[in-house]
Amino acid sequence: MNIGQDSMSKIIDGKKIAQELREDLKKEISKLKINYKKEPGLAVVQVGNVAASSVYVKAKTKSAIEVGIKVIDHHLDEKITQKELLNLVDSLNKQDNVSGILVQLPLPVHINEQVVLDSIDPNKDADGFHPLNVGKLSISATNDENLLIPCTPYGCLLMLNSLGVELKGKHAVVIGRSNIVGKPMAQLLLKESCTVTIAHSKTTDLPKICSEADILVAAVGRPEIVKGNWIKKNAIVIDVGINRVQREIDGEQKNKLVGDVDYSEAEKNASFITPVPGGVGPMTIACLLRNTTIAFKNKFI
Ligand code: NAD
Repeated sequence: MNIGQDSMSKIIDGKKIAQELREDLKKEISKLKINYKKEPGLAVVQVGNVAASSVYVKAKTKSAIEVGIKVIDHHLDEKITQKELLNLVDSLNKQDNVSGILVQLPLPVHINEQVVLDSIDPNKDADGFHPLNVGKLSISATNDENLLIPCTPYGCLLMLNSLGVELKGKHAVVIGRSNIVGKPMAQLLLKESCTVTIAHSKTTDLPKICSEADILVAAVGRPEIVKGNWIKKNAIVIDVGINRVQREIDGEQKNKLVGDVDYSEAEKNASFITPVPGGVGPMTIACLLRNTTIAFKNKFI
């Protein structure tokens, strides 16, 4: 079934696929509440007031509440010490009503992000960034339903799976090797039996490598770096990038969100393509809710 795919076009509708996932979670959580007299709880920890973080935290909180997850909000002063933050995580690790813990990144520079991420109970790791979960993702041969997998790449995989296209044997090129997107994306595609190439900032001849991709996932953070003529005919293009740029619209300079792919040109060659916004972004949030629900079920069922 081609869930969320507009039959008249090649656009992969992340908003729609994410909405379907949230509706499924809402039904599941409501049954869990009846059967176990408990609900999943997500602790959302934000340090400081980075504007983009506030937007993400607000969107995640709203979506969590809508599906029936209880949100335990901790908005901390940017001057909080690392020790104080670690103490908070430690106390959240011990609370039974907290199924998942999300520490919104980036943290202020005086706090070591990896130390904080490592301190989260791996069983409550809503983002799937803990080394134990990263290791499990790397060594498990197939996608175990109980695994806590980084939300953005898992959302990309769900979109690919929604197309009804066989992934096995396809050449997948992932641009970007970050711990939160590029590397786990490559792991997931490998599990789908794709032949995976990871490109990055030191890759030579990126256009040539991209032009050999049946599936291209761009997670770079450079506005429209991937040009339309780099896209192989009928390739599937997943654009993870979110870049704020100034563009002239109706004679005025306005802020606009664009991806890492030059969409208007790429869509001429691609068989399927995700838009920005409305592609990967909504999937990331839906997968966070999914992880929180999985963490709850792993503990209580
Ligand atoms: P990052 O900065 O950690 O990693 C970027 C990667 O791109 C690096 O591995 C680097 O090697 C590679 N790179 C940089 N310049 C390059 C070049 N010229 N050619 C080839 N590779 C190059 O970023 P990230 O956290 O992985 O995020 C990537 C993008 O995805 C950003 O735009 C970010 O905002 C976006 N993002 C979106 C979501 C979402 O929900 N839609 C979630 C996470 C990240």
